[in-house]
Amino acid sequence: MPVKAASEPIAAVATPAGVGGVGIVRISGDDLSSIARGILNTDLPSPRQASRRRFVDENGNTLDDGLCLYFTAPNSFTGQDMLELHGHGGSAIMRSILSRCLQLGARLATPGEFTMRAYLNGKIDLAQAEAVADVINASSSAAARAAVNSLSGAFSQRAQELTASLVLLRTDIETNMDFADEDTGADTSVTYRLKQLRLATEKFLTQCEQGAKFANGITVAIVGRPNVGKSSLLNYLCGEDAAIVAAVPGTTRDTIGRDIDINGMAVRLIDTAGLRTAPDDIEKEGIARAIRAAQHAEIVLLVSDNDTVDVLAEYYQQNEKQDGQQSEEFAATILQVRNKIDLIANGPDMHDNIIYVSAKTGAGMDDLRTAIINMSGIGDSTPSFTARARHVAALEECLQYLQFAEDSSPQTELVAAWLSSAHTALSSLTGVFDDEKLLGEIFSRFCIGK
Ligand code: GDP
Repeated sequence: MPVKAASEPIAAVATPAGVGGVGIVRISGDDLSSIARGILNTDLPSPRQASRRRFVDENGNTLDDGLCLYFTAPNSFTGQDMLELHGHGGSAIMRSILSRCLQLGARLATPGEFTMRAYLNGKIDLAQAEAVADVINASSSAAARAAVNSLSGAFSQRAQELTASLVLLRTDIETNMDFADEDTGADTSVTYRLKQLRLATEKFLTQCEQGAKFANGITVAIVGRPNVGKSSLLNYLCGEDAAIVAAVPGTTRDTIGRDIDINGMAVRLIDTAGLRTAPDDIEKEGIARAIRAAQHAEIVLLVSDNDTVDVLAEYYQQNEKQDGQQSEEFAATILQVRNKIDLIANGPDMHDNIIYVSAKTGAGMDDLRTAIINMSGIGDSTPSFTARARHVAALEECLQYLQFAEDSSPQTELVAAWLSSAHTALSSLTGVFDDEKLLGEIFSRFCIGK
């Protein structure tokens, strides 16, 4: 049974917490007339026209004076009747308007509940619903553009095209189950179509992986021996004095994170404590955190300021000797960076695969930014849509079933069965999707009021 959108009125403040010029309380439900009468002291205003109203409490006292907008079902975001009360953007005012709505019978909306109702009422598909959150959370203008494309259906359209080819193939196979017994022409055609479908899915998966990376941004950890200029590098890249720079080794005892934008991609830079044998417990903890940060980063900038580049290996060797433990491997891509090239009068002796920079003069910083982008796997252009880990996982699963189908060809029943599984995996992208628990999980990551 498909999950049905609940219809009782829900209300929430739709604008961010804090002080602003305007704040909005949103209400959605099947019948909002009694709530409207209670708070506006009038009937519901004409749909889609801004009307000025007083918002009143139970004694008729004015809570605020603002605009209201009314949308009738199904022509609203949620597909239900919706009322927006635009008041002054102070948290006390917003709270009092919201409390009044709750007093009049609305229930406080849970995170993402408005969008969930929009999805359940068929106003948007699941991928578009997720794009709503991506648009809101986008940390760079390019990520926002990609998310808006997803919201307008770019992602869903690609998923639907793939689904359409898959459905056509399934229908052809299932209505002609004994194709393998016929002349080889039919068999070749199915094999060919299976391969085409797999290739198209692989391409979509690559785009989704890029879209997901773009939406989430990447983490870059700056690692190296004390005093090589890690903090200076972070400060240069984010254009502010975020990290303390000092000539005394061991200044950065904790990790410091900053979000920057490189070519439109959100990059979280993490400055870490210098890797060396720690003289005190606090610095030891800082170094442990540096290792953890590096292990969780997509890219590690391994910084040095002299010819010894592989300080990490050296660090592990030292540690192994002391603790007798096996060193852990980094999952990240390592980019070797040589800092302080301004100190070398005739310029550094260049080696391949090392980026030469000066955090003091800014020399080589464009090369470093380009190298980070190249290593991120995003490619040089902004992805045309955002995607999520869930989409990537579903496509990987679909791809696996398509591969099984290809391997099973020409055993018709097997091919048909694998294609059916591939179809289920693909359907979960845009959400012909009845799993109430999973829907709850997806929408619970939204903010309240969305
Ligand atoms: P960290 O311990 O690796 O974070 O190193 P810091 O960023 O604190 O820098 C250590 C010292 O090196 C400071 O005195 C910085 O001013 C200096 N420094 C950092 N980068 C450069 C550089 O590119 N050129 C020069 N000449 N000095 C630098």
